[in-house]
Amino acid sequence: MNLIDQVEQLFIQDKIDIFLGYKALDGHLLPHGFTRDRMEELKALQVSEGRYSLEKIATHLTEKHPDIRIGMIARECNLRTLNLLYTWKQLNPENIETINISCCPSPLKPHSDCSYLEPKQTGAYKKTHGIDFNADPDTFLDDFNNKNRFSRWMYEFNKCIKCYGCRNICPVCFCDECSLEHASLVEPGTLPVDVPIFHLIRATHMAGRCIDCGLCEDACPMDIPLRLLYRQVNAIVSDIFDYRPGNGTDQSPFTIIGEKTVLEPKPMDAQLEGEKEYGL
Ligand code: SF4
Ligand code: SF4
Ligand code: SF4
Repeated sequence: MNLIDQVEQLFIQDKIDIFLGYKALDGHLLPHGFTRDRMEELKALQVSEGRYSLEKIATHLTEKHPDIRIGMIARECNLRTLNLLYTWKQLNPENIETINISCCPSPLKPHSDCSYLEPKQTGAYKKTHGIDFNADPDTFLDDFNNKNRFSRWMYEFNKCIKCYGCRNICPVCFCDECSLEHASLVEPGTLPVDVPIFHLIRATHMAGRCIDCGLCEDACPMDIPLRLLYRQVNAIVSDIFDYRPGNGTDQSPFTIIGEKTVLEPKPMDAQLEGEKEYGL
């Protein structure tokens, strides 16, 4: 059964209220919500070569309509995200239907919009002063000493234009209040960006949460190798807790602070409450 027929069946069998896929608009494939009352639109449903975090749309829809049943196209990275969002109780697995697309490696991508398949090339200056997109995460710590690593990351962080693209595209950045906009941590509305605090806040929040989809790195207009950064922090979590985000629906080691943090992620409030509760 082709994709359109499969989605049609999900509507006919009353399994979903909306299907998240892609539709061409002015020559670009953009995320689109297909609904039962406009079934004729399904003719335009396509699988995009590019990737977008459809789960982020699902999370927003669920926030507004907790019982909505959502269908979506899901690649491997989408499935890892969904697992993580179930763990963090941002989505209810009973309300999600996926049509799975195997794409790693993908016949869908003659050129690559996916950082998994074709990491960006690194220029000569970046190679000597910054960080190679293709740096091996397993040997990175051994390849450079502390001073060299610090100076290379600072070179990368200082390029940041504080566009928030990395956070906005990230399917697992779902906090109601984001620390990156908390005035006591990151000065609002100013440039240059506070370095390295801006990037270290996000890096620590991605520990045990990043599912390594690479969308943030793809979105970053300043070519900062964010994926490597988050892989490094996640390696620490994996070593200590033997936990790989998104590989299953096991509880994250960072959900142990309390149900409140899991259900209503407001990092600053949760932290203060946690400090009070546990006398930290
Ligand atoms: S790779 Fe980037 S966008 Fe993807 S989950 Fe990790 S931090 Fe978020
Ligand atoms: S507080 Fe951290 S985890 Fe939450 S949205 Fe902001 S960057 Fe993402
Ligand atoms: S996407 Fe890149 S430039 Fe924009 S805030 Fe994130 S790190 Fe900075």
